[in-house]
Amino acid sequence: MRKAIATVSVSGLLTDKLDAVAAAGFDGVEIFDPDLISCPLPPRDIAARCADLGLDVDLFQPVRDIEGVPPEEFDAVLHRVRRKLAVAAELGAGTVLACSNVAGSSLADPDLTAEQLHRVGELAAEHGVVVAFEALAWGRHVNRVRQAWRAVQTADHPSLTLAVDTFHLLARGDGPEALVDVPGERIGFLQVADAPLLDMNVLEWSRHFRCFPGQGTLDVAGVVLAVLSAGYAGPLSLEVFSDLVREEQASETARDAMRSLVFLEDEVAGRLPAAGGPVLAAVPPPAASVSTAFVEVPGSPPVRALLEGLGFAPHGRHRTKPVTWWRNGAADVVVNDAAGTDTAIGLVAPPVAGVAARADALLWPKVERARGADEARLPGITSPSGLHVFVSAAAGDSDDWQHDFAADVAAADRPPGGGPLLGIDHVGVGVPPDRLDREAGFFRTLFGLAPGPVEEFMEPRGRLRSRALRPPRGDLRLVLNAVDAATGVSRPLGVTQVAFACADLLALVCRLRAAGVELLRVPDNYYADLEARFGLPAYRVEELRRHGVLYDRVGRGELLHAYTPVLATGFYVELLERRGGYDGYGAANATVRLAVQREQAR
Ligand code: MG
Repeated sequence: MRKAIATVSVSGLLTDKLDAVAAAGFDGVEIFDPDLISCPLPPRDIAARCADLGLDVDLFQPVRDIEGVPPEEFDAVLHRVRRKLAVAAELGAGTVLACSNVAGSSLADPDLTAEQLHRVGELAAEHGVVVAFEALAWGRHVNRVRQAWRAVQTADHPSLTLAVDTFHLLARGDGPEALVDVPGERIGFLQVADAPLLDMNVLEWSRHFRCFPGQGTLDVAGVVLAVLSAGYAGPLSLEVFSDLVREEQASETARDAMRSLVFLEDEVAGRLPAAGGPVLAAVPPPAASVSTAFVEVPGSPPVRALLEGLGFAPHGRHRTKPVTWWRNGAADVVVNDAAGTDTAIGLVAPPVAGVAARADALLWPKVERARGADEARLPGITSPSGLHVFVSAAAGDSDDWQHDFAADVAAADRPPGGGPLLGIDHVGVGVPPDRLDREAGFFRTLFGLAPGPVEEFMEPRGRLRSRALRPPRGDLRLVLNAVDAATGVSRPLGVTQVAFACADLLALVCRLRAAGVELLRVPDNYYADLEARFGLPAYRVEELRRHGVLYDRVGRGELLHAYTPVLATGFYVELLERRGGYDGYGAANATVRLAVQREQAR
């Protein structure tokens, strides 16, 4: 499909925006009127510049408040519309977007609206352009797509069509079924945007929180599928208003935007019936399953002391790099002693080559690094927050990450699988607050992970927003954490937390404390509250208190968990035991844990 983007969706001045959009490979552009008004170039020069860059001007937008206008004011509207249509013609835009009236003075008179839209259609025909009428979600009397379609039908002018904007349609609670009887040739333009689910004023939601498809939670693909199935043959065009976009580099946003359309097209292609319909480009599918292989942390004496204290032992040495594989039971940690390394995560996500090809198709940047002869192909991809994610084949395959390690001398004497840990339960990744949605979009688009809702917790110096992701198949549990905190407060990024699962947490904690391993101390007030909330028997509360173990219960499921202190780098370990199918992360205990960690860090 042809791909376009509205100039409002990238930061900068109009000419910078056009450069960035062209560099990202878009076919066309929507010129946003305020961008044009503040540009020193006349419309014809902008048109020429677009032509030089290989961009079509697909749309000029928006013309506002043109229908439902009190009759005595309509002459002024026609004057304004005439002027704007002339600008569109100079820009070479074949289509002009008009959005529904938001003025308090507008009239709830469908016949008047249709009559005025017909008149606008006549003017459009005179200028050789088509007007696409959009129901703004906060329009005064026309705010749902069915109302706009009825107005277009009643106005009955060939130069007046319907504009479909996925945000406005979905924000009002409508879905693809709202377009059921709209013929594709009557849809003049399709704008796409996603958004996180927020319960707020729809205008604020639209202006500040729209995002690119794949980053939010709306069923954008469902609406696009309906529009394409109806026979719409125009471009797929992004229109994203967002505070984040305005602060971001235009080139980076344009690449995010292009990726989101590639992802969207692929999503829609996957939902199209096998025969017939438009031909859409598909990208290689995501991995069949995604499981945690290892976490990688930079080597330092405190990291080694932490691992040793927890019962980890060196298990293998990388054949060519200063990297050691540490193991406890079935839990694997890779310690990298090369200078200047960051944390990373290793995932078992076969087929490795397919995932690498999908990352390429979606424009996710590779981790550049040397691969030695006979080493596993371990493609690395950099997430928006800068996290390195390495993709490994399953154990036993030649591209299994473990092949790159020679058995450690010290490990030779150890019984295989020694240690009480069952494996990595989940990995916590610190991301900058303004990258939380993009980071979730990375894991969603590349690995097919399903993001959960954003959860918020009080943090002593700010707030923590957290989002858990799970794959459809595989054991990966990933938790993205964004701390909005006071200036000067540490906000570590990358892998900050690894949670290891065990079968008997109280016994493990008991052994660790006896061996002098420091674990986080939990205030007695927490246990008084625990007793109040769950009515646990006194001996159980006392047992938890004595061991500094946190507790949560949902239905028949129980979680017991404990934490190590936080290292200077921000890294810490959680030890946990899930009972009875407990599926969460102990969110109820996050506030006390954050407070104790902050206190301990002082
Ligand atoms: Mg729109």
